[in-house]
Amino acid sequence: MSGGFHHRHLLGVEGLTATDVLHLLDTAEAFFAVSRRPVRKVPTLRGKTVINLFYEASTRTRTSFELAGKRLSADVVNMSVAASSVKKGETLYDTCKTLEAMQPDVVVMRHGASGAPHFIASRLRCAVINAGDGMHEHPTQALLDAFTIRRAKGRLDGLTVAICGDVAHSRVARSDALLLRLFGCTVRVVAPRTLLPDGIESTGVEVYDRLEPALDGADVVMVLRIQRERLEGALLPSLREYARTFGLGPRQLAWAKPDAIVMHPGPMNRGVEIDTTVADGPKSVVLDQVEAGVAVRMAALYLLAGERRGEGDGVHEPASEG
Ligand code: ASP
Repeated sequence: MSGGFHHRHLLGVEGLTATDVLHLLDTAEAFFAVSRRPVRKVPTLRGKTVINLFYEASTRTRTSFELAGKRLSADVVNMSVAASSVKKGETLYDTCKTLEAMQPDVVVMRHGASGAPHFIASRLRCAVINAGDGMHEHPTQALLDAFTIRRAKGRLDGLTVAICGDVAHSRVARSDALLLRLFGCTVRVVAPRTLLPDGIESTGVEVYDRLEPALDGADVVMVLRIQRERLEGALLPSLREYARTFGLGPRQLAWAKPDAIVMHPGPMNRGVEIDTTVADGPKSVVLDQVEAGVAVRMAALYLLAGERRGEGDGVHEPASEG
């Protein structure tokens, strides 16, 4: 086990060190096996309460936080915003103070506004995990991506990673780039100029506007979803045109290293940013990412709700059948 994890919240990759990341990934390795057992449960967070508070749509993230909490024996409550007082005009602050009065240990929050989890973290006594805030960060996605890359490649250091697609609207791209740079990876981003944020060059990533040079020699090809819900106006001539110039098919994938892996955070727009034969092909680790998500979120919940309060039996607990 490397280093420690001394944060009250998990709000972003920004602010984490390489040691923090390794500690989280090593803890996730210990929990990974739990989900493959016949009995997928350990008592680590018995008596703890996790509230999932999702203001934006989610399949993978919400489900895997719920499973992660349940596999650690925590009580997990999913608050559906559509059926809550938020619909009656309650402010974010009042909703969170109300939830806090019920004594949760962790609030997992997804929100369309960048900074919303930071806002509540500074006002609540419990731990807060950012499950995606607007176009800002999605730290557990970056951690599960790192976990998947490390398993597939045997290391994180010094890899060449090409992040392809709607970088401008992607909290995943931002968190991934921050994390991979901690390990000395070469991070390339490739997209039409309209889908690249201003000033991206200054963040230390290499910027491309054509797929071929961006994929040349890449160890990892990370494809991003076109975020139709965040596209304002005519940033793209058409999805068909985008698929033709930036879609990842077998011909394009051949530009990367022969042993390159293909990642996508989901949900995929098949036939737009990724071809079905690639999405389901032998180089795709998309479902490994999903499986890693449960282990990484178990680690995050454990480090914030269990270990931090001096309870639970550390990394030995995952090994015990329960
Ligand atoms: N599921 C990821 C997120 O919530 C990626 C995406 O939606 O494109 O950011």
